[in-house]
Amino acid sequence: MFVDSHAHIDGQEFDVDRPAVIQRARDAGVSAILNVGTGDPHSGVLERAVELAENHDRLYTALGVHPHDARLFDDEAERRIINLIKQSSRVIAWGEMGLDYHYDNSPRDVQMSAFSRQLRLAREASLPVIIHSREAETETIELLRSEWQGSNLPGIMHCFSGSLDLATQAVGLGMFISFSGIITFKKADDLRHVAAEMPLERLLIETDCPYLSPVPYRGKRNEPAYVIEVAKCLADLRGVSKEEMGQITSGNFARLFNLDLS
Ligand SMILES: [Zn+2]
Ligand SMILES: [Zn+2]
Repeated sequence: MFVDSHAHIDGQEFDVDRPAVIQRARDAGVSAILNVGTGDPHSGVLERAVELAENHDRLYTALGVHPHDARLFDDEAERRIINLIKQSSRVIAWGEMGLDYHYDNSPRDVQMSAFSRQLRLAREASLPVIIHSREAETETIELLRSEWQGSNLPGIMHCFSGSLDLATQAVGLGMFISFSGIITFKKADDLRHVAAEMPLERLLIETDCPYLSPVPYRGKRNEPAYVIEVAKCLADLRGVSKEEMGQITSGNFARLFNLDLS
């Protein structure tokens, strides 16, 4: 049993074969998927993500404004998200939110304010958060310390690719660390070292599909069934079988979100 903790299967990359993609995941033993609605919050993408989750068993959704789209976050976006959370029990997290200083698609001060505002809103809604952090480690930890610490709510550092220091501090703040296909890449020795050091009870696996296909699927569109390659890699690092790593990470996911996946 495996859980894909972060996927974007509501996106148009999957419009041609979405039901087949979901079926392939089920057949491969992926029992649950957390789809993450991103994009312009005024365009209907978030509503679409909720609809997808409502129509499939064990498909959940997170909603939030990605740091790339931080400049689009406003009162109307906030209202939309809060209404969707109230409408659907399938919305189980707020995110992804955070800071991306690699692409800088939105100005950094705008990213910071959208991130801190969403942390506060998630806290008010008692929802776990999904954090996207790239090349902004110091600022990410600072904001988590000022806006999230003491909330007693968990969160996910998704598609983790940062330092051991960031991972350790995030775990100290109650975060789970989710690894993607990056961990299977040849040059990812540093990241594998981080994964080897993390407490087992805080590990999660994800695809972040359609991006970041793990070895041996690199160059192809990624999909939830491939999360097993991430489990395999993590299992080798920790000296357990891939099935055991699937159980560990699925158990962590169920505990984090209070879900019964048995
Ligand atoms: Zn992300
Ligand atoms: Zn994502």
